[in-house]
Amino acid sequence: MTIGVVGAGTMGAGVAECCAQAGHDVIVVETDSHAAELARKRIADSVRLAILLGRSAGPKPTEVLARVRWTDLMSELQDVSVVVECVPERIDLKEKIFAELDRCCADAVLASCTSGIPVDLIAASTSRPERVVGLHFMNPAPLKDTVEVVAGPRTSQHTLDEVRELLASLNKTGIIVGDGPGFVLNRVLMLCIAEAAASVDAGIADPETVDALFEGCLGHPMGPLRTADLIGLDNVQDTMTTLQTLTGDDHYRPPASLTALVDAGHLGRKTGRGFHDYR
Ligand code: NAD
Repeated sequence: MTIGVVGAGTMGAGVAECCAQAGHDVIVVETDSHAAELARKRIADSVRLAILLGRSAGPKPTEVLARVRWTDLMSELQDVSVVVECVPERIDLKEKIFAELDRCCADAVLASCTSGIPVDLIAASTSRPERVVGLHFMNPAPLKDTVEVVAGPRTSQHTLDEVRELLASLNKTGIIVGDGPGFVLNRVLMLCIAEAAASVDAGIADPETVDALFEGCLGHPMGPLRTADLIGLDNVQDTMTTLQTLTGDDHYRPPASLTALVDAGHLGRKTGRGFHDYR
């Protein structure tokens, strides 16, 4: 299979790595050459680490990277079987990308890695809503075995079957859910992060304490604010704003501490600082 990936940030690099590691040819469309360079390095480091830790017996980083072609032209996706779109979480941008994919791709499944934009809204900018599906990979994609698969009201069974086949080839399991803002995971998780940050804003606890409670008392491997730092605070802010707009529920409004961190350029792990300090 040849898989297309649009956007080579946190998720695009991870999805490209999973597909290439599984032996698929991958074409990555990334408009920012610096981001593409970082993604190549991230993939090489991740494959090397997996071998060092015994999680993978090969292929080597060079072999994985040799299966990935990099371009800034969407037209190169003409013959792919599945495209996974991984651009930032903005409705206008996703609509533009999907209209372009609809023009460029012959008969591909058009999947979005969106965190919470309803699949049917994205599908509306294409002439083939039955081929549009949500593939909500988790971060880091190579380490997470389960994917939230979002079936829009017009997504066909044939499309879901093809997606299941792709996920099986990546050794991942898809759990299918219906469409709606945030689907299941982020409908719940974004409220949890928002309330955790609001507890900090209200002076009830600092970020260390909030996360220690979730990790120690509830046995979560990572508290909500550390999870937000892993996702990327810009992405969390975009997802909350989208959910607030689409649901009209102000509980999804990005809390003051989150907005202040994003405004200061502290986006979580990827910049070394977020609710916690990683430097
Ligand atoms: P990111 O900001 O790390 O990466 C986005 C990439 O898209 C950037 O490299 C950017 O240059 C590129 N891009 C922007 N416009 C483009 C265009 N027109 N053509 C090609 N490339 C373009 O974002 P991310 O964290 O990887 O998130 C991507 C998607 O995955 C979002 O919808 C997000 O909500 C979702 N998601 C994120 C996470 C997470 O933990 N970060 C988890 C699951 C889903």
